[in-house]
Amino acid sequence: MLAEKQVTKRVHGYCALCTSRCGSIAVVENGRFVALEPDPSHPTGQALCAKGRAAPELVYHPERLLYPLKRTRPKGDPDPGWQRISWDEALSLIAENLRRIAGVHGPESVAFGSASPSTSGLDDSLQWLERLMHAFGGRNLCVAFELCGWGRYGANIYTFGASVPGSYIPDLENAGCILYWGYNPNLARLTHATATVAALRRGARLIVVDPRRTGVAKKADHWLRVRPGSDGALALGLCHVMIANGWYDETFIREWTNAPLLVRGDSRPFGGGKPAAVCGLE
Ligand code: SF4
Repeated sequence: MLAEKQVTKRVHGYCALCTSRCGSIAVVENGRFVALEPDPSHPTGQALCAKGRAAPELVYHPERLLYPLKRTRPKGDPDPGWQRISWDEALSLIAENLRRIAGVHGPESVAFGSASPSTSGLDDSLQWLERLMHAFGGRNLCVAFELCGWGRYGANIYTFGASVPGSYIPDLENAGCILYWGYNPNLARLTHATATVAALRRGARLIVVDPRRTGVAKKADHWLRVRPGSDGALALGLCHVMIANGWYDETFIREWTNAPLLVRGDSRPFGGGKPAAVCGLE
């Protein structure tokens, strides 16, 4: 008897399991996805993390949800009584309920929710959820946001005065000095780790603030090993040195950040009236 001929396909794409979107090659043997490998020909494909490499396990996991289930017992019942229904039934049921709630209480009574786009496969679908919400007439969207997201996104609002949509990503390709503060790109965003190594090769300097000796801390010119919980003091110390030496753009800070409102020169509440003195800014 002739042995069955093995057909192996290598499909180029990218891992969509987090916002890093690492270039990848899916290895498919006889129609079965068996491995995800890095694709060095892709700009972000130098390496894959453990989550990306486990992609076949996710696809074939016996407990993976493959079709809609409807609860048939009330909430709180130890047995939810899950019943398989078709996609059309599920969509009709949801649409019916959304319309009913909007009819009685208005579309703004519904909150739409999403897992974190940064650390899940939702980054490429969030805009569709927003589109559905807007078409419905809603305006409440709850999106999980990690600690790193506050730094990446919130820090830009305070630094530049706006969230800098779509570009709150460090320009590692052109950076002369990179500062990582409690950030471990080897785990959180692999493409930043590989871009940092490339930046160091072309001469960039690296400062890492982290109690742990992470992969990037080992490569740093300065590893500032703060005690956990004390990096606020380090930040204030840096601010003090910058203010004392005049290492800031006063016009920019006045126009675009909330720094002028942090310390009042009068008795008006935070944010009210004329922006006043900030530790020597006035
Ligand atoms: S960092 Fe990991 S999970 Fe995220 S895209 Fe890359 S391989 Fe996938």
